[in-house]
Amino acid sequence: MPLPFTLLIDPVPAESAQIDFADTFHEIESAAPALRVAELSTQRGDGIFETLAVVGGHPQELEPHISRLANSAEICELPVPNAAQWRAAIAYAVARVPHDGELALKIVLSRGVEHGPAPTAWLHATRAPDHKAVRQNGVRVVTLDRGYPRGVAERAPWLLMGAKTLSYAVNMAALREARRRGADDTIFLTTDGFVMEGPTSSVIIRAGGVFITPAPSGAILHGTTQQSVFEFLEAEGERTEYRDVTVDELRRADAAWLVSSVRLAVSVTELDGQPFPTDQPLTRALNAHLLGRAA
Ligand code: PLP
Repeated sequence: MPLPFTLLIDPVPAESAQIDFADTFHEIESAAPALRVAELSTQRGDGIFETLAVVGGHPQELEPHISRLANSAEICELPVPNAAQWRAAIAYAVARVPHDGELALKIVLSRGVEHGPAPTAWLHATRAPDHKAVRQNGVRVVTLDRGYPRGVAERAPWLLMGAKTLSYAVNMAALREARRRGADDTIFLTTDGFVMEGPTSSVIIRAGGVFITPAPSGAILHGTTQQSVFEFLEAEGERTEYRDVTVDELRRADAAWLVSSVRLAVSVTELDGQPFPTDQPLTRALNAHLLGRAA
């Protein structure tokens, strides 16, 4: 099957003991009309998603993505996803797409059609953009105020901060603001000066020989790539830590990375207009590990 590859999925309840899901999958032409106008994903961004990398025919970090989808569903009060059905849908797609190079595979679960009986689900696989240059050269980053203090997720759970919802308009606006300020990407800060995450990535810093990432407190996503990077670093004998990171610590760090499923690890080369130290040999090692997980 050529790319893009699109599959509509009839979601079955989580408790369903069904073992063959093939009749719940409907392959469609990627350009074919597929969603109803009353669909709440398009009307309100009311749904959740995950984007996995598929490298050499292998879906990366499958289980962490499936469990984060379940966590997002819980936060958004969507029906619990049937993990076996999602695994089967991903396997079905991966068996039908080219196995060379890097692909991005997006899975979506929306609240469905207004007053409709069921949620809507689909999967869409495309060739990943070529990220070789950015992995090699890194990104210039500006910090941007996310507009919320630390602890917002507990105080205002209706903001759905820790869910990967379809409402990425704010994240995209932040990237446009970063570009207006002459940078490539951004790191969100709380109003009280703590590091959160990028609009499409997790932040890892190295300070005093320790690799640190902001604790996934409910206000940020627990990145699947960050988890894989930490596993690699720990296996190499490095120290890793989840904890609050202030913007001053970020500024004083001796390296920092933005990590995400498809772009993988990229070094911060400039922070708020100031040159920032990098460790390119380590960045290359991280990306070799992240790409090699297929082996
Ligand atoms: N934080 C946000 C807001 C994201 O959108 C993403 C990925 O798109 C991440 C973090 C990194 O998550 P992952 O490594 O699972 O791709």
